[in-house]
Amino acid sequence: MKTIQMLIDGEWRSAKSTYNVINPANTEEVVAKAPLGTRSDAQEAIEAAYRAFSAWSQKSPYERAKLLRKAAAIVMERIEELGRLLTLETGKPLKDSLKEIEFAVRVLQYYAEEATRVFGEWVPTISQSVRSIVIRQPVGVAGLIVPWNFPVDLLAWKLGPALAAGCTVVIKPSSEAPAAATEFVRAVNDAGFPRGVINVVPGKASEVGLELVENPKVAKLSFTGETETGKYILERAAKHLKRVSLELGGNAAAIVCDDAPLEVAISGCVRRAFSHMGQICISINRVYILKEIAKSFIEGVVEATTKLKVGNGLNPETDLGPMFREELRQKTKEHIRDALEKGARLLCGGKEPEGEEYEKGFFFIPTVLIDVDHRMRIMREETFGPVMPIMVVQSLDEAIKLANDTRYGLAAYVFTKDLSKAIILAERLEAGGVAVNINDVTELQAPFGGWKQSGIGRELSRHALDSYLEYKHIRIGII
Ligand code: NAD
Repeated sequence: MKTIQMLIDGEWRSAKSTYNVINPANTEEVVAKAPLGTRSDAQEAIEAAYRAFSAWSQKSPYERAKLLRKAAAIVMERIEELGRLLTLETGKPLKDSLKEIEFAVRVLQYYAEEATRVFGEWVPTISQSVRSIVIRQPVGVAGLIVPWNFPVDLLAWKLGPALAAGCTVVIKPSSEAPAAATEFVRAVNDAGFPRGVINVVPGKASEVGLELVENPKVAKLSFTGETETGKYILERAAKHLKRVSLELGGNAAAIVCDDAPLEVAISGCVRRAFSHMGQICISINRVYILKEIAKSFIEGVVEATTKLKVGNGLNPETDLGPMFREELRQKTKEHIRDALEKGARLLCGGKEPEGEEYEKGFFFIPTVLIDVDHRMRIMREETFGPVMPIMVVQSLDEAIKLANDTRYGLAAYVFTKDLSKAIILAERLEAGGVAVNINDVTELQAPFGGWKQSGIGRELSRHALDSYLEYKHIRIGII
């Protein structure tokens, strides 16, 4: 069992009280003892970050880059330990945990490079007796609030650009999965960042989270989590006109056209609907299939889904671990029940697996539903569970209309061999990212984020760096 600490002003310390982090694959196993940071711990961390800001922001970007590169190397050295911890506390298969940490390493390396590319502008002026220069400077202390489902990656997506830009940070990991994120911060900080530049305070949302949101010394908030939490944070942060980036919930649709590459569509939809038990913001939550191809697609999906091995994430055979907590499993069951009551048909799954290895965890069998429609909660709300509802449609226009019939707009998926059709669909879908014939919209150098109620701002790419920077215009009289 790991004992997790807080990092405040360059010192790792324990909190007055601790709590147990539980393994969702075996609820009798305590994975870690985590510190229950308080509002005053958060205040101390913010003060430390505030003091450290001036020196850190004035460092040469090349020095910041050097530390980020070193941090990436240290994380890579500890990947096995971090991956195991990530699997133990989130339930995801070890191979997925290792991929998550590798991606976090790439993110740190990428922002090490981007740190040295924060260019300004020399602006033409109306009068020749003045000159105008535009520079970009870090916004100040950044509060980074992350969820439990990708606790390391999503932290790296914020930490990389924030440090590269010259911000100092106070991190609040998810109180439910704080262990791997905090140990990741330890590895990053071991690169030798000056005291106070990086602070991490695990603890409750109502204590640590709220302090970050309300403390006027936090200039920028970068939040990933539920849409309702994001709205609350935005409202509270408005009091101080903080800069706020929000990465929120999703309800992604996939459109499978009549000319879709069938095998690619089946494996793509199955992977993106069930990976991490559907507990991903860009999970495929709804499939719209053209009637001509429906029968063979549905048969293929059911065959592939029933082959998926559910089990403990540490077992190398496992494709899908447990769900993260009981409440999410119950919500999934409620959505399935609601759909069945309204006329949907269950083709596989819909219940917990049986057997000794499943008794102590939040396991669930991946589920495929057909005969669904938009009266059902499963088509309108973010289930955040392993269910693929498939709806047969008569035309592409109908598919687009239904796909856009949601308050969310994070990701969408299209499967077709026709490039023109792909382009038209991608243009008409209301989402921050559209994946064509592939199961992921995430690309390190491309902006990631949501339209509509899926968020404000972008992560990854050079655009993420912008959100930690302010413009400054310097106007000089020539004398
Ligand atoms: P959550 O909103 O419950 O919590 C996210 C983080 O915010 C946690 O650290 C939590 O402690 C903190 N928090 C909660 N209330 C707060 C408050 N009032 N003030 C300050 N901090 C507060 O979300 P979750 O259950 O951890 O994550 C799942 C959600 O995250 C899903 O809706 C999913 O779609 C979304 N998500 C979005 C993205 C994206 O990039 N758009 C990525 C991953 C997850």
